[in-house]
Amino acid sequence: MLVDSHVNLHAEAFAPDRDAVIERARAAGVARMIAICSRLSEADAVRAVVAPYDDVFPTLGAHPHHAKDRPGVTADEIAALAREMDAVAIGETGLDFHYNYSPEPEQRASFAAHVAAARTLDLPLVIHCRDADDAMADLLEQLWADGPFRFLLHSYTGGVDLARRGAALGGYFSVNGIASFKNAHDVRAVITTEMPEDRILLETDAPYLAPPPHRGRRNEPAFLPHVAESLAQIRGWTLAETAERTTAAFHALFDRVPRAAARRELKA
Ligand SMILES: [Zn+2]
Repeated sequence: MLVDSHVNLHAEAFAPDRDAVIERARAAGVARMIAICSRLSEADAVRAVVAPYDDVFPTLGAHPHHAKDRPGVTADEIAALAREMDAVAIGETGLDFHYNYSPEPEQRASFAAHVAAARTLDLPLVIHCRDADDAMADLLEQLWADGPFRFLLHSYTGGVDLARRGAALGGYFSVNGIASFKNAHDVRAVITTEMPEDRILLETDAPYLAPPPHRGRRNEPAFLPHVAESLAQIRGWTLAETAERTTAAFHALFDRVPRAAARRELKA
């Protein structure tokens, strides 16, 4: 059993065959999926998209690209939206200085509001960080000083320093198809040496970042086993161990998501 911690299920790319995508994911052993919200104005759309499925759970948040859509958004506004849709996490939020689609001050303010909302609701935070390692590490430590919060550095492609400082604050990490891209030696090195073994999650980030052998095509959660295989190789774990560890880490962090039926039956 695997868990996909990051699917952009509301994406246009899935509009024609969303049910079939979910079916294929289930058939591939993906027992839980997190549907990521990346604009506050998209909350209703994400909620509608997850409604038919009892194994898909929504988040609520604004990607740094879209921080500029709601400058001055408050933690209370984010928390209210999250409550309304029964979000299991806040995000994705973060800093993206690669594209800088939103001005830096607005990215920072939006991120801080998301952190405060996550703290209030005791929900995990899904963090996107690109070309902003130092700023993110500083900000995490500053905001942490106001009170602890739980977070996932998703699609981790950052360096050693942010990984260490994030891990020191109890942060989790997620690995996707990038880990198996030919040139991603640095990403693999960080996975091997810096990510705590009990705090690594799997994700596809579908429809983006399809793992080999599907690279260049639309990604979907059914391809998650390829990501599991590459993580297993990188860490020297068996596939069964990889599934077990990443699923346990997922449930430790995303604690509002009920465990899959198979596990409940085992206990009964
Ligand atoms: Zn992201």
